[in-house]
Amino acid sequence: MVPRPVINRLNRKNPTGPNVNANQNVPFWRAKPLSELSLQEWESLCDGCGRCCLEKLEDFETGAISYTEVACPQLNPDTCRCANYAERHRYVPDCVPLSPANIQDLKWMPSTCAYRLLAEGKDLYDWHPLISGDPGTVAVAGISVRGRCVAAHDAGDLENHIVAWPE
Ligand code: SF4
Ligand code: SF4
Repeated sequence: MVPRPVINRLNRKNPTGPNVNANQNVPFWRAKPLSELSLQEWESLCDGCGRCCLEKLEDFETGAISYTEVACPQLNPDTCRCANYAERHRYVPDCVPLSPANIQDLKWMPSTCAYRLLAEGKDLYDWHPLISGDPGTVAVAGISVRGRCVAAHDAGDLENHIVAWPE
């Protein structure tokens, strides 16, 4: 078996600029660390799974985070996208903005999330739209929350909705 090359995107010692490896057709998420991505490139990494937009519970004593199947009130359950992304902090003040600076600290981000994967030096899964070319592969692979989440107004006590699959 031929060993696969390991690319550590966050620890590149001598990046030569945004076009590094451009002649080798290396996709941008492998060619550049997260901190060097354009806003468009950064936004395109979101696969639209909606997992990070599920309500979570934090244990006050241990700090442990538990995912629930309950969707944030701003999450559109059909598109799995935020209904008011640009103004989301007006409606959900504690929605955490992701950035290259904080992604490594957000340990509760789903293990399938592209930002977490790249921050951990891993690659995207083949169902990611940037690789498959089809946004629908996120649902086909069972990653999307579409059809699996509960609306906040129907949920009642969040503790009755703790689930393990989003992690
Ligand atoms: S978990 Fe990651 S990839 Fe999925 S919607 Fe949230 S930010 Fe996007
Ligand atoms: S406000 Fe929007 S982006 Fe933030 S958690 Fe809710 S649905 Fe997700």
